[in-house]
Amino acid sequence: MKVAVFGLGYVGSVTAACLAAAGHDVWGVDVDTAKVGPITEGHSPVVEPGLDELVADGVTGGRLHATTDPRVALDRADVSLICVGTPSTPAGSTDLTYIKRAVRDIAEAAHVVVPPESGFHSIVIRSTVPPGTVDEVVAQVLADVPPPAGVTFGTAMCPEFLREGSGLADFYEPPFVVVGTQFPHVGVQLTQLFGFLGQDVQVVDVRTAEALKYACNAFHATKVSFANEMGRIFRNYGVDSREVMRLFVQDTSLNISPYYLKPGFAFGGSCLPKDLRSVLHLARVNDTELPLLAGTLATNERSVSDVVDRVVAGPGREVALLGLSFKVSTDDLRESPNVELAERLIGKGYNLRIYDAIVNPSRLVGANLRHVESKLPHLQRVLTDDPAAALDGADVALVSATDTAAIEALLAAPPARTIDLSGRLGNDVEALPGYEGVAW
Ligand code: NAD
Repeated sequence: MKVAVFGLGYVGSVTAACLAAAGHDVWGVDVDTAKVGPITEGHSPVVEPGLDELVADGVTGGRLHATTDPRVALDRADVSLICVGTPSTPAGSTDLTYIKRAVRDIAEAAHVVVPPESGFHSIVIRSTVPPGTVDEVVAQVLADVPPPAGVTFGTAMCPEFLREGSGLADFYEPPFVVVGTQFPHVGVQLTQLFGFLGQDVQVVDVRTAEALKYACNAFHATKVSFANEMGRIFRNYGVDSREVMRLFVQDTSLNISPYYLKPGFAFGGSCLPKDLRSVLHLARVNDTELPLLAGTLATNERSVSDVVDRVVAGPGREVALLGLSFKVSTDDLRESPNVELAERLIGKGYNLRIYDAIVNPSRLVGANLRHVESKLPHLQRVLTDDPAAALDGADVALVSATDTAAIEALLAAPPARTIDLSGRLGNDVEALPGYEGVAW
């Protein structure tokens, strides 16, 4: 099939490369040349393990292309997958500007897009959007730009469940493949498109598919906040709640996976906080109270304040922050709680030096470099390539997502205090005299 993928960020570039690897003819489209340029040169535009190689294979094999011109990508394409950003507005609602723009681009190219023999093109949203987006917002754009005679657009929601840092593995093994559509032909096309995944494609009502992604993210976030609250209360009684949760998940009546249930630091990234805010915004406009989910977000904010309070309660003003992105193996700094932590400590007059295995001065490129330069220049100034330099003279180390170089530097020259934000630093670090777990 010929597929146009709109938006070549974390979701779009993984989707495009994996579909190309499965043999489809894939054309990625982005308004940002910092995303298109690397792909045309055979590189990934984002840091995602394994993606660089997959992009290189797709480009050299002639199955993966990228362009800023939607008409080039859409020429006789069967399906458009929309993977553009859906950020929060200041009020917490979902900003659908990029979705509308992508749908309009497709509608305006209807004369090139639709293969004349079928007269049909599927517009499929993979971004996370609130219920009603496909049948109200997308439908309105298509009504504003009616297609020429003989051309039909079918619409659908097909949520994406990948997580940054394990994007390829998650793409190939999603928890489910769900297509929300009222167009039977779209269901047939997507079943063909994703057939290589070897999973049943479950065709459901559009709004069910839209709501599903929010349900998943709200539950993941709630699991994190639950585990963190267990940790925060029981650490006062000398309990290691990592052990409590290890046992807790063995309760077969819960039938719950251990993922997201490790006591530790706040959740972050470009999805969980934004999608929770979006659900809470939907609740506000419907005059519906959701105290559980409001509490999930409040607990998360408390997790950051707790660490700030603990640093402030101790001696010294020199802080080493090891790990800046919200998890290992990603360069994505959006809503990283480590960024929030750094900003609050700098605001309180602490001297920070920051090391991150991926987000470091010599590796920042493209859109991510632009993000750091424009949004985080105060952090860029204190970022270093060298974990030992970050730790030099530090009174306290705050350690989260990091690599063996950082662990070795920490063991070689431990500061008086090490606050472990990850729970996965290993026994050697836990044996350091000034070691403290963040939630145990
Ligand atoms: P991103 O910000 O990394 O990428 C979005 C891309 O869309 C950007 O490169 C931007 O330039 C491009 N874009 C904007 N308008 C465009 C247009 N009109 N035409 C073409 N390109 C356009 O976003 P992301 O992290 O990949 O997330 C995309 C969507 O998928 C969001 O709705 C997000 O909630 C959802 N999602 C994200 C993840 C994740 O882990 N990042 C996982 C599942 C779902």
